[in-house]
Amino acid sequence: MQQTDMHYEVVVVGGGAAGLSGAVVLARARRRVLVIDAGRPRNARAEGVHSYLTRDGMPPGELVAVGREEVRGYGGAIRDGEVVRIGRDGEVFTVALADGTRVSADRLLVTTGLVDELPPVPGLAERFGRDALHCPYCHGWEVRGEPIAVLATGPMAVHQALLWRQWSETVTVLRHTAAPFGAEDAERLAARGIAVVDGEVAALDVEDDRLVGVALADGSMVACRALAVAPTFTAAGAVLADLGLKPTEMTREGHVIGTYIESDQTGATPVPGVWVAGNVANPMAQVVGAAESGVRAAAMINFDLIEAETDRAVAERRRALAP
Ligand SMILES: Cc1cc2nc3c(=O)[nH]c(=O)nc-3n(C[C@H](O)[C@H](O)[C@H](O)COP(=O)(O)OP(=O)(O)OC[C@H]3O[C@@H](n4cnc5c(N)ncnc54)[C@H](O)[C@@H]3O)c2cc1C
Repeated sequence: MQQTDMHYEVVVVGGGAAGLSGAVVLARARRRVLVIDAGRPRNARAEGVHSYLTRDGMPPGELVAVGREEVRGYGGAIRDGEVVRIGRDGEVFTVALADGTRVSADRLLVTTGLVDELPPVPGLAERFGRDALHCPYCHGWEVRGEPIAVLATGPMAVHQALLWRQWSETVTVLRHTAAPFGAEDAERLAARGIAVVDGEVAALDVEDDRLVGVALADGSMVACRALAVAPTFTAAGAVLADLGLKPTEMTREGHVIGTYIESDQTGATPVPGVWVAGNVANPMAQVVGAAESGVRAAAMINFDLIEAETDRAVAERRRALAP
């Protein structure tokens, strides 16, 4: 076996809502568990977490800090760091960190989340999570009744505009790089009072650290307080590549909206001993869903370890009782 610094029953790669929830379950099940986390939860730029009952408005950093304390409270270990490679040494997984540390594990729970890849509009990345928004369930209430523009980059823009219309009577679709809408879509948008503006968006207009509009390439302006965007949800699954787990494309209406690592309903991947949970497995999961999937995967990992331990105990018992 290769030299590793420490061995754990379970290593959790990624310490957001999914990873920490899984780690609490494993620590409470008296498993020796380590969480390795690079400290960049996807919603870090948001002012608060919404739609998570009892945690409404809690800053994302605080949710993670409290979660870490809960894991530690049951004896789980947390380590700040970036996992750069995961390999295999027989039955054992080897996990290499960027700082040179290596640990090993009997089972892996990978909860590395996803990367929101934004359309290349100057200034958009700086406003993401503030007033450039991807999810009305996360931010819609905060911009209710305000003028909202939808940056159309694919066929899902119509669905997106109809969705945001629930939060505001003033929704404008900026057709930007999307193909012209068909007659049926145009009728549906018009029926809900949603205007469509042709032309590419060239810049965001920000005053006093607040979005006030967007500038089109022809120099015209469209006033808005929020810009709805559709990032590509790219699974942060590179560390799984050496184990043979590659991301699968997720499509809607023939358009790739993201990637994810395939697993069954418990989070088990096709590689025995490796589970995934949270956004790396399901780009649509919100915080509460990510947490739930971490809990479910952890329970299955615990049971998988119990099965293996029982098999070993039976074999030993037979050996001991053999004449
Ligand atoms: C701007 C914004 C606002 C949002 N607001 C809400 C909201 O109000 N309510 C809601 O329910 N959802 C919201 N979401 C969605 C929410 O962010 C996700 O549902 C949630 O973060 C998923 O949890 P996770 O544990 O899967 O991933 P994450 O929270 O992203 O955690 C993954 C962790 O893994 C770490 N990691 C990645 N790669 C490695 C590696 N190689 N080694 C070690 N660690 C690694 C990351 O640094 C990160 O800490 C929002 C998303 C965005 C973008």
